[in-house]
Parts: sequence; structure tokens; C-alpha cells
Amino acid sequence: MIIECVECRRHVDASVQGAFLRTYGGRAPSSLFSLLACTECFSPILIRQTNIGNIAEGDIWDTPQLVFPTTDLRINPKAPQDIRLAFDEASNCYRANAFTASAIMCRKTLEGICAAHGVEERNLARSLQKMHEQGLIDDRLYEWSDLMRTAGNEAAHGVGLSIQREDAKDILEFTNAILDYLFSYRDRFEAFKDRRKGARPVENAPATRTMNLGSESPAEI
Ligand SMILES: [Zn+2]
Repeated sequence: MIIECVECRRHVDASVQGAFLRTYGGRAPSSLFSLLACTECFSPILIRQTNIGNIAEGDIWDTPQLVFPTTDLRINPKAPQDIRLAFDEASNCYRANAFTASAIMCRKTLEGICAAHGVEERNLARSLQKMHEQGLIDDRLYEWSDLMRTAGNEAAHGVGLSIQREDAKDILEFTNAILDYLFSYRDRFEAFKDRRKGARPVENAPATRTMNLGSESPAEI
């Protein structure tokens, strides 16, 4: 079966290792689950197909849906709703093979991220610069986001230019990483630092505490 392997991103003639037919006693069309093996990188792939056939034509299995590995990106639930909606649309575009539209929606997501941090400059390039200056994003993240911005610009304005699947996937995943960083890890790290600041050192504590683990020499902790 010809399928695109998510792991190695190659179109391969995957070999069928096993199958399971899920029936619903005639209440719903049956589903065929097939476990495949990528012939290039040997990754397991599980697909599901629904029977769209009828009595006259017999079983007809529709286009395979990927069950595993999952390509669905988990959208950070802490991000504001309009940002989640924009990113959701970017993911939907990607799944529908609308790669250029996906890149444009990622760019829009980036604009939303800046606005959510109170940064709304004349254009996205300046907004990202300000995010960087304010220390909201570090050098690496600035570099990433600026590349996402450029790719989104090209997608939006270059009529003859279309974004390829591989680039669209990277743009989507980098945008998701930026969302995670800004709405989860950064906030958590700030809270962690605050807790550390609040934690008072224990008075008269010995410089080195030891714990006997049953061996001859005590182990330091
Ligand atoms: Zn593969």
C-alpha cells in the first residue's frame, strides 16, 4: 500500500503486517484497521479505512486515515482562544493538503502571539523584534519566528509561489513550539523562579548532608 510515512516523510509501498475488521452489526459501516511497516525506515504505521461500498459493488475501502503515529498537534490549552482558533485552522489546512494556506495561518498565529503579549507594532517583523528586545523570546526563538514570518509572507504575497508539504509541516511544528514555549514553559519557569526566590535557606543546616544507603561509605545527596 502506497502511503506517506510520517517518520521518514517518504512515500513508500508499506507492507501490511496485520489487519483487524471492526464491524458494527450493520448499524454503521465497518472499519478496516491495517498495521503497516514502512519499507524505508521500518516504522509501524496504523491506518483505518471505512467501507463505503454497497451490496451491488461489494466492499470499497475509502482513503486511509492515519491512526498512528498521530500527526495531530496538540494545541496549548493555555493560549488565548483566538490564537488557538488560528492555529487550529493552520492544522486543518495542513491536513487538507492546503500547505500555502497553512503557512499563512501560522503567520497569523504569530501575529496573535505578539498581540497577546501586548506587542502590536507596525508590522510583524517589528513586533517580533520588540518581543526579542523585551526578552519575551530568546535569540533562537527570534530566529525561528522571523523565518516563519518570512515564509508566511512569501506564502501570502507570492502568487506563483506555493509552500511544499515538508516546509508547511515544519512551519506548523515550529509555530506550535513557540506557542508551547510562550504559554507554558516560559510562565512555568517564571513561577518556578519565584518559588525558588521565596524558598528560604534552612538555618544551621550542615553544609553537606549525608545519607547511609547501607554501603560502607555514606553517599552524598
Ligand atoms: Zn518511514
